[in-house]
Amino acid sequence: MRARVVVIGGGAIGASCFYHLVERGLSDVLLVERAALGHGSTGRSAAVVETQYLDRDRIAVCAWSMRLFRRLEREQGLPFAHHGYLRLGRTARDLAQFHASVEMQRELGMTDAVVLDPPAIERRFPSLEVADTAGGLFGPTDGFVDAVRYCELLAQLGQARGGRVLQGAPVRGIRVRSGKVVAVELDGEVVECEHVVNAAGAWARAVGRLVGVDLPVDGYRRQLVNLESPTPFAAPVPMVIEYVPGMAEEGLYFRGDSPTRLIAGLHWEGYGEVEPPADPDRYREACDGDYTARVSERLGRRYRDAAELRVTGGWAGLYPLTLDAEPILGELHEVTGFWNAVGGGGVGVQTSPAIGAIVADLVTTGATAVLGDLGPYRLERFDPARAGDR
Ligand SMILES: Cc1cc2nc3c(=O)[nH]c(=O)nc-3n(C[C@H](O)[C@H](O)[C@H](O)COP(=O)(O)OP(=O)(O)OC[C@H]3O[C@@H](n4cnc5c(N)ncnc54)[C@H](O)[C@@H]3O)c2cc1C
Repeated sequence: MRARVVVIGGGAIGASCFYHLVERGLSDVLLVERAALGHGSTGRSAAVVETQYLDRDRIAVCAWSMRLFRRLEREQGLPFAHHGYLRLGRTARDLAQFHASVEMQRELGMTDAVVLDPPAIERRFPSLEVADTAGGLFGPTDGFVDAVRYCELLAQLGQARGGRVLQGAPVRGIRVRSGKVVAVELDGEVVECEHVVNAAGAWARAVGRLVGVDLPVDGYRRQLVNLESPTPFAAPVPMVIEYVPGMAEEGLYFRGDSPTRLIAGLHWEGYGEVEPPADPDRYREACDGDYTARVSERLGRRYRDAAELRVTGGWAGLYPLTLDAEPILGELHEVTGFWNAVGGGGVGVQTSPAIGAIVADLVTTGATAVLGDLGPYRLERFDPARAGDR
């Protein structure tokens, strides 16, 4: 078999790379997924998509991405529940940053974000208790998507234009000749190719090792608790998060998942020295009892109707995190034709449209207009000795 580009990994990021490569005119693209589309972190996420960030790059990436999610919703019927996203702040500094975010979002075409004070939040969402907060940054049209369906749609759209998708096909090896990628090895098959895109999420380090490179990205376990209400919620529960980027502690988040179900968890990105990475093939996929208790206790302080809710289980998945929680994008200095689209962290679903577009731009033209400066996303930032910026 032959393909110009082989994308390894059919999660949100790989599916987006595949779709954008085909969209940019490369029909000879093969997406290879060892299990099923969306089977990794993507299908175990909360699938929230929003633009309520504080730094311009992240807002730009999320705004760019939001346009694709909305287009897929409009044109392809992607399920997208627009229940809103509320980021709560504790300090005057948080609020100042929220106001700056609203300005940046406007400049980037996202016009509906607002800053709400605590009384305005409680008027809008009477079930929330926010007297201890300074207010919130609210995106009324943000929400959550069906992340597996999103991967499937991108795969279908790419296939409709000539791209190919293989599921149940683990990549076992990558052949390199004279410093260049020349082929990918599957079980019983070799695919000759010029480029490989590593979009293997929490398995990205293992895929890097296939070309002898140790990539600083691993999977870190994060959990979500399911809670069921005996009666339907009076109104959809938006995504509420107590985490402000840069915060040193974990932040509670929760959102309605159905008319009677809420999901809740704790978000943090940095893992410091203390948290060991998980083995993506052998980690506990159920929720821990002590974690459930911690989440329930914090939910009880934030959500007035929490006493009515009954815990019905939960699950764990992996954040594919780099050392600075930003992705690694671009070609490997050591191996021509080996591209990384890894390190989605806790936002890899919602940033995947832009990440896929950036990597597709780089593979096809060597430059991208999605972000001005890719320096913060190069592998070389962790090891300047690698240099030789591409
Ligand atoms: C509890 C939880 C909640 C989250 N909530 C959100 C959220 O609300 N919003 C958000 O944006 N993000 C969220 N995330 C983060 C998000 O899930 C990830 O950042 C994102 O899914 C990463 O996508 P990916 O495509 O890189 O990885 P994955 O989805 O893991 O895809 C990688 C794929 O590569 C395949 N693969 C690996 N090795 C090989 C191989 N050798 N050959 C072939 N295929 C291979 C795997 O089978 C897998 O399907 C959450 C994560 C967790 C755990």
